[in-house]
Amino acid sequence: MAGSGPRVGVLALQGDFREHLAVLGGLGAEAIPVKRPEELASIQGLVIPGGESSVMDKLSRMFGLADPLKAAIRSGLPVYGTCAGLIMLADTVLDAIDGQQTLGGFDLVVRRNAFGSQLDSFETDLEVPAIGGDPVHAVFIRAPIVESVGERASALASLPDGRVVAVEQGNLLGTSFHPEMTGDTRFHEYFLAKVGSA
Ligand code: GLN
Repeated sequence: MAGSGPRVGVLALQGDFREHLAVLGGLGAEAIPVKRPEELASIQGLVIPGGESSVMDKLSRMFGLADPLKAAIRSGLPVYGTCAGLIMLADTVLDAIDGQQTLGGFDLVVRRNAFGSQLDSFETDLEVPAIGGDPVHAVFIRAPIVESVGERASALASLPDGRVVAVEQGNLLGTSFHPEMTGDTRFHEYFLAKVGSA
């Protein structure tokens, strides 16, 4: 995916990284899959896709990416996590599998698979004041919920019952849902603006 815009990586260990590469490339970014620690040095931002956070966690440690990723997040690299990616960024995860770790950095408590088996997947429209305009059509797939937003983080969107599903904290952005699947590029544009001003 060539582009004249910023060089933005998508963690490509597992999950729907191809969809993010396509959206970012379509917005003019130079979008590259990231699988090796060396690839972190040249990127100006990173997306961590949806997928399965426990698998992504294991693979990131196996491939020696977890520690360099933690260092990059702490040094201020803009990072956007969707669904499993949001879980990877959270400081605390509830209902994790045994031994599951996260990269952390985002001052949040996130609960995995928060909608249970009754409501594995659903779609709804969300008001997102920070993004403006029409509501965002949000696709949730075995999604996490943000159970508590720490002092350093803030909520960007909630479900009608008040449960938080989009968050930011400085250079970090997270959504429980999957904007890469709907053709609505406003969250990716919002993220690229962070990359541009970092
Ligand atoms: N349930 C998955 C997890 O725990 C997340 C699902 C998704 O990314 N769509 O990682």
